[in-house]
Amino acid sequence: HDPRLTDPVHRTLAGVLDAARPNTDGAVADYIPELADVDPEPIAIALASTRGSVHEAGDSRVEFTIQSASKPFVFALALDALGLDTLTRHVGLEPSGEPFNAISLEASGRPDNPMINAGAIVATSLMGGETTEQKFREIRKGLSRFAGRELELDESVYASEAATGDRNRALAYLTHAAGTLAAPVDVATDAYFRQCALVVTTRDLAVMAATLATGGINPLTRERVISADAARWTTSMMTSCGMYDASGEWLLRVGLPAKSGVGGGIVALQPEQFGVGTFSPRLDERGNSVRGVEMLTTMSERYGLHMLDPR
Ligand code: GLU
Repeated sequence: HDPRLTDPVHRTLAGVLDAARPNTDGAVADYIPELADVDPEPIAIALASTRGSVHEAGDSRVEFTIQSASKPFVFALALDALGLDTLTRHVGLEPSGEPFNAISLEASGRPDNPMINAGAIVATSLMGGETTEQKFREIRKGLSRFAGRELELDESVYASEAATGDRNRALAYLTHAAGTLAAPVDVATDAYFRQCALVVTTRDLAVMAATLATGGINPLTRERVISADAARWTTSMMTSCGMYDASGEWLLRVGLPAKSGVGGGIVALQPEQFGVGTFSPRLDERGNSVRGVEMLTTMSERYGLHMLDPR
Protein backbone atom coordinates (compact mmCIF):
# COMPACT_ATOMS: atom_id res chain seq x y z
CA HIS A 1 0.00 0.00 0.00
CA ASP A 2 1.52 3.30 -1.11
CA PRO A 3 0.24 6.01 1.27
CA ARG A 4 0.85 8.58 -1.44
CA LEU A 5 -2.10 7.25 -3.41
CA THR A 6 -4.56 8.38 -0.77
CA ASP A 7 -2.86 11.71 -0.04
CA PRO A 8 -4.83 14.49 -1.78
CA VAL A 9 -1.82 16.84 -1.73
CA HIS A 10 0.24 14.17 -3.45
CA ARG A 11 -2.45 13.76 -6.12
CA THR A 12 -2.46 17.53 -6.63
CA LEU A 13 1.31 17.65 -7.02
CA ALA A 14 1.32 14.63 -9.33
CA GLY A 15 -1.31 16.29 -11.53
CA VAL A 16 0.73 19.48 -11.77
CA LEU A 17 3.85 17.45 -12.56
CA ASP A 18 2.17 15.30 -15.22
CA ALA A 19 0.93 18.41 -17.01
CA ALA A 20 4.51 19.75 -17.28
CA ARG A 21 6.30 16.48 -18.09
CA PRO A 22 5.80 16.60 -21.90
CA ASN A 23 7.50 19.99 -22.11
CA THR A 24 11.07 19.39 -23.29
CA ASP A 25 11.83 23.00 -24.19
CA GLY A 26 15.03 24.65 -23.03
CA ALA A 27 18.53 23.32 -22.45
CA VAL A 28 20.70 22.41 -19.48
CA ALA A 29 23.18 25.07 -18.36
CA ASP A 30 26.49 24.46 -20.07
CA TYR A 31 28.60 27.45 -19.07
CA ILE A 32 29.69 25.36 -16.08
CA PRO A 33 31.14 22.30 -17.90
CA GLU A 34 30.09 19.80 -15.26
CA LEU A 35 26.45 20.92 -15.49
CA ALA A 36 26.36 20.24 -19.23
CA ASP A 37 26.53 16.52 -18.45
CA VAL A 38 23.55 16.23 -16.10
CA ASP A 39 20.59 14.07 -17.08
CA PRO A 40 17.97 16.54 -18.41
CA GLU A 41 14.99 14.23 -17.84
CA PRO A 42 14.23 14.18 -14.09
CA ILE A 43 11.23 16.18 -12.96
CA ALA A 44 10.03 16.64 -9.39
CA ILE A 45 7.91 18.76 -7.12
CA ALA A 46 7.69 18.71 -3.34
CA LEU A 47 5.67 20.70 -0.85
CA ALA A 48 6.39 21.11 2.86
CA SER A 49 3.66 22.65 4.96
CA THR A 50 4.53 25.02 7.78
CA ARG A 51 3.02 22.37 10.11
CA GLY A 52 5.66 19.89 9.05
CA SER A 53 4.03 17.52 6.57
CA VAL A 54 5.99 16.87 3.37
CA HIS A 55 4.45 15.72 0.08
CA GLU A 56 6.47 14.72 -2.97
CA ALA A 57 5.90 13.72 -6.58
CA GLY A 58 8.26 12.58 -9.32
CA ASP A 59 12.03 12.37 -8.86
CA SER A 60 12.00 14.27 -5.59
CA ARG A 61 15.00 12.39 -4.14
CA VAL A 62 17.28 12.95 -7.13
CA GLU A 63 20.25 15.09 -6.13
CA PHE A 64 21.44 18.21 -7.92
CA THR A 65 23.46 21.31 -7.08
CA ILE A 66 21.59 24.13 -5.43
CA GLN A 67 23.31 26.93 -7.42
CA SER A 68 21.49 30.26 -7.08
CA ALA A 69 18.67 28.80 -5.03
CA SER A 70 21.27 29.12 -2.23
CA LYS A 71 21.24 32.91 -2.49
CA PRO A 72 18.18 33.74 -0.38
CA PHE A 73 19.33 31.39 2.38
CA VAL A 74 22.85 32.81 2.61
CA PHE A 75 21.40 36.32 2.50
CA ALA A 76 19.04 35.32 5.31
CA LEU A 77 21.91 33.99 7.44
CA ALA A 78 23.96 37.15 6.86
CA LEU A 79 20.94 39.30 7.72
CA ASP A 80 20.28 37.30 10.83
CA ALA A 81 23.86 37.70 12.01
CA LEU A 82 24.48 41.32 11.02
CA GLY A 83 21.11 43.07 10.60
CA LEU A 84 19.61 45.01 7.75
CA ASP A 85 21.56 48.25 8.26
CA THR A 86 24.91 46.52 7.92
CA LEU A 87 23.75 44.44 4.96
CA THR A 88 22.49 47.46 3.06
CA ARG A 89 25.88 49.12 3.36
CA HIS A 90 27.12 46.28 1.15
CA VAL A 91 24.26 45.33 -1.14
CA GLY A 92 21.17 47.07 -2.56
CA LEU A 93 17.53 46.04 -2.45
CA GLU A 94 16.38 46.89 -5.98
CA PRO A 95 15.54 44.56 -8.85
CA SER A 96 18.16 44.96 -11.56
CA GLY A 97 16.07 43.84 -14.54
CA GLU A 98 19.32 42.35 -15.78
CA PRO A 99 20.61 38.80 -16.17
CA PHE A 100 21.96 36.93 -13.15
CA ASN A 101 25.60 37.48 -14.03
CA ALA A 102 25.34 41.10 -15.19
CA ILE A 103 28.28 43.42 -14.60
CA SER A 104 26.19 46.02 -12.84
CA LEU A 105 26.70 48.00 -9.69
CA GLU A 106 24.82 51.01 -8.35
CA ALA A 107 26.69 54.32 -8.43
CA SER A 108 27.43 53.76 -4.72
CA GLY A 109 29.32 50.56 -5.60
CA ARG A 110 26.73 48.22 -4.15
CA PRO A 111 25.41 45.38 -6.30
CA ASP A 112 21.74 45.99 -7.08
CA ASN A 113 20.41 43.15 -4.95
CA PRO A 114 21.48 39.91 -3.21
CA MET A 115 19.71 37.60 -5.68
CA ILE A 116 22.06 38.29 -8.62
CA ASN A 117 25.61 37.00 -8.63
CA ALA A 118 27.39 40.22 -7.67
CA GLY A 119 25.16 40.75 -4.64
CA ALA A 120 25.24 37.09 -3.68
CA ILE A 121 29.05 37.03 -3.68
CA VAL A 122 28.98 40.08 -1.39
CA ALA A 123 26.50 38.30 0.92
CA THR A 124 28.79 35.28 0.99
CA SER A 125 31.72 37.54 1.86
CA LEU A 126 29.79 38.74 4.92
CA MET A 127 29.47 35.25 6.41
CA GLY A 128 31.36 34.63 9.62
CA GLY A 129 35.02 33.62 9.59
CA GLU A 130 38.15 34.78 7.81
CA THR A 131 39.09 31.91 5.55
CA THR A 132 37.20 30.18 2.75
CA GLU A 133 36.95 27.08 4.94
CA GLN A 134 35.46 29.01 7.85
CA LYS A 135 32.95 30.86 5.67
CA PHE A 136 31.94 27.72 3.83
CA ARG A 137 31.54 25.87 7.13
CA GLU A 138 29.09 28.56 8.26
CA ILE A 139 27.22 28.40 4.96
CA ARG A 140 27.00 24.62 4.93
CA LYS A 141 25.93 24.53 8.57
CA GLY A 142 23.29 27.22 7.99
CA LEU A 143 21.84 25.74 4.81
CA SER A 144 21.77 22.31 6.46
CA ARG A 145 19.69 23.78 9.29
CA PHE A 146 17.26 25.16 6.70
CA ALA A 147 17.06 21.69 5.11
CA GLY A 148 16.96 19.76 8.37
CA ARG A 149 19.76 17.45 7.28
CA GLU A 150 23.49 17.60 6.57
CA LEU A 151 24.12 18.85 3.01
CA GLU A 152 27.18 17.64 1.08
CA LEU A 153 29.41 19.34 -1.47
CA ASP A 154 29.59 18.13 -5.09
CA GLU A 155 33.37 18.35 -5.49
CA SER A 156 33.35 18.03 -9.28
CA VAL A 157 30.77 20.77 -9.86
CA TYR A 158 32.71 22.97 -7.44
CA ALA A 159 35.99 22.27 -9.26
CA SER A 160 34.33 22.87 -12.62
CA GLU A 161 32.93 26.24 -11.58
CA ALA A 162 36.14 27.27 -9.84
CA ALA A 163 38.05 26.50 -13.05
CA THR A 164 35.72 28.57 -15.25
CA GLY A 165 34.34 31.23 -12.89
CA ASP A 166 36.27 34.25 -14.10
CA ARG A 167 33.15 36.29 -14.68
CA ASN A 168 32.19 35.84 -11.04
CA ARG A 169 35.75 36.72 -10.03
CA ALA A 170 35.42 39.88 -12.15
CA LEU A 171 32.23 40.79 -10.26
CA ALA A 172 34.03 40.18 -6.98
CA TYR A 173 36.93 42.41 -8.04
CA LEU A 174 34.53 45.21 -8.94
CA THR A 175 32.80 45.02 -5.56
CA HIS A 176 36.18 44.80 -3.85
CA ALA A 177 37.32 47.95 -5.64
CA ALA A 178 34.07 49.66 -4.66
CA GLY A 179 34.56 48.68 -1.01
CA THR A 180 31.43 46.56 -0.71
CA LEU A 181 33.04 43.10 -0.67
CA ALA A 182 33.79 42.05 2.90
CA ALA A 183 36.54 39.48 2.22
CA PRO A 184 39.46 39.01 -0.17
CA VAL A 185 38.28 38.18 -3.70
CA ASP A 186 39.55 34.59 -3.70
CA VAL A 187 38.01 33.86 -0.28
CA ALA A 188 34.61 35.25 -1.32
CA THR A 189 34.47 33.57 -4.72
CA ASP A 190 35.76 30.23 -3.52
CA ALA A 191 33.20 30.12 -0.71
CA TYR A 192 30.53 31.17 -3.23
CA PHE A 193 31.47 28.43 -5.72
CA ARG A 194 31.24 25.84 -2.94
CA GLN A 195 27.93 27.28 -1.76
CA CYS A 196 26.53 26.86 -5.29
CA ALA A 197 27.81 23.25 -5.44
CA LEU A 198 25.98 22.07 -2.32
CA VAL A 199 23.83 19.06 -3.19
CA VAL A 200 20.11 19.11 -2.48
CA THR A 201 16.96 17.21 -3.41
CA THR A 202 13.62 18.73 -4.35
CA ARG A 203 12.37 17.68 -0.94
CA ASP A 204 15.20 19.66 0.68
CA LEU A 205 14.23 22.77 -1.28
CA ALA A 206 10.63 22.46 -0.08
CA VAL A 207 11.72 22.21 3.56
CA MET A 208 14.17 25.11 3.16
CA ALA A 209 11.43 27.29 1.66
CA ALA A 210 8.99 26.22 4.36
CA THR A 211 11.51 27.42 6.94
CA LEU A 212 11.17 30.90 5.44
CA ALA A 213 7.38 30.50 5.26
CA THR A 214 7.14 29.88 9.03
CA GLY A 215 9.15 33.01 9.74
CA GLY A 216 12.43 31.19 10.34
CA ILE A 217 11.60 27.92 12.14
CA ASN A 218 12.31 24.64 10.36
CA PRO A 219 8.92 22.88 10.43
CA LEU A 220 10.50 19.41 10.67
CA THR A 221 13.24 19.94 13.27
CA ARG A 222 11.39 22.81 15.02
CA GLU A 223 14.71 24.62 15.26
CA ARG A 224 14.74 28.40 14.84
CA VAL A 225 17.21 28.97 12.02
CA ILE A 226 16.85 32.74 11.54
CA SER A 227 14.78 35.55 13.03
CA ALA A 228 11.30 36.37 11.76
CA ASP A 229 12.63 39.73 10.50
CA ALA A 230 15.38 38.03 8.49
CA ALA A 231 12.80 35.63 7.01
CA ARG A 232 10.47 38.45 5.99
CA TRP A 233 13.26 40.58 4.50
CA THR A 234 14.55 37.60 2.55
CA THR A 235 11.09 36.71 1.26
CA SER A 236 10.68 40.32 0.16
CA MET A 237 13.85 40.11 -1.94
CA MET A 238 12.68 36.84 -3.49
CA THR A 239 9.42 38.56 -4.42
CA SER A 240 11.08 41.49 -6.18
CA CYS A 241 14.27 39.88 -7.50
CA GLY A 242 14.15 36.08 -7.28
CA MET A 243 13.60 35.07 -10.89
CA TYR A 244 16.42 37.01 -12.54
CA ASP A 245 15.19 39.36 -15.28
CA ALA A 246 11.82 37.56 -15.31
CA SER A 247 10.95 38.65 -11.76
CA GLY A 248 8.27 41.17 -12.73
CA GLU A 249 6.39 38.79 -14.99
CA TRP A 250 6.74 36.03 -12.41
CA LEU A 251 5.14 38.21 -9.75
CA LEU A 252 2.26 38.98 -12.08
CA ARG A 253 1.64 35.43 -13.30
CA VAL A 254 2.58 33.24 -10.32
CA GLY A 255 2.63 35.61 -7.37
CA LEU A 256 4.78 33.51 -5.04
CA PRO A 257 8.18 34.60 -3.66
CA ALA A 258 10.69 32.35 -5.42
CA LYS A 259 14.31 31.83 -6.35
CA SER A 260 15.69 29.72 -9.17
CA GLY A 261 19.11 28.19 -9.77
CA VAL A 262 20.84 27.08 -12.95
CA GLY A 263 21.01 23.52 -11.60
CA GLY A 264 17.28 23.35 -12.43
CA GLY A 265 15.87 23.87 -8.95
CA ILE A 266 13.35 26.50 -7.88
CA VAL A 267 12.25 27.33 -4.33
CA ALA A 268 8.96 29.12 -3.75
CA LEU A 269 6.72 29.73 -0.78
CA GLN A 270 3.47 31.05 0.54
CA PRO A 271 4.15 32.71 3.91
CA GLU A 272 2.45 30.90 6.79
CA GLN A 273 1.31 28.11 4.46
CA PHE A 274 4.03 26.10 2.72
CA GLY A 275 7.32 25.92 0.88
CA VAL A 276 7.64 24.28 -2.53
CA GLY A 277 10.63 22.94 -4.41
CA THR A 278 10.68 22.01 -8.08
CA PHE A 279 13.40 20.43 -10.16
CA SER A 280 13.93 19.93 -13.87
CA PRO A 281 17.29 20.78 -15.44
CA ARG A 282 16.34 22.30 -18.80
CA LEU A 283 16.42 26.11 -18.55
CA ASP A 284 14.85 28.92 -20.52
CA GLU A 285 16.93 31.77 -21.95
CA ARG A 286 16.84 33.59 -18.61
CA GLY A 287 18.18 30.62 -16.68
CA ASN A 288 14.92 29.47 -15.07
CA SER A 289 13.86 25.80 -15.21
CA VAL A 290 11.25 25.50 -17.98
CA ARG A 291 9.22 22.74 -16.37
CA GLY A 292 9.70 24.24 -12.90
CA VAL A 293 8.21 27.53 -14.08
CA GLU A 294 5.39 25.60 -15.72
CA MET A 295 4.63 23.53 -12.60
CA LEU A 296 4.56 26.56 -10.32
CA THR A 297 2.48 28.56 -12.79
CA THR A 298 -0.06 25.73 -13.09
CA MET A 299 -0.15 25.24 -9.35
CA SER A 300 -0.72 28.93 -8.66
CA GLU A 301 -3.44 29.24 -11.30
CA ARG A 302 -5.27 25.99 -10.51
CA TYR A 303 -5.30 26.48 -6.77
CA GLY A 304 -5.53 30.28 -6.54
CA LEU A 305 -2.19 30.72 -4.76
CA HIS A 306 -1.24 34.21 -6.00
CA MET A 307 -0.19 36.19 -2.94
CA LEU A 308 -2.27 39.18 -4.04
CA ASP A 309 -5.51 37.25 -4.47
CA PRO A 310 -8.11 38.48 -2.00
CA ARG A 311 -8.52 35.76 0.66
N1 GLU B 1 27.04 29.11 -9.68
C1 GLU B 1 26.31 29.80 -10.70
C2 GLU B 1 27.02 31.06 -11.12
O1 GLU B 1 27.45 31.80 -10.28
C3 GLU B 1 24.94 30.11 -10.18
C4 GLU B 1 24.14 30.84 -11.16
C5 GLU B 1 22.69 30.62 -10.98
O2 GLU B 1 22.23 29.58 -10.52
O3 GLU B 1 21.98 31.55 -11.36
O4 GLU B 1 27.19 31.34 -12.27
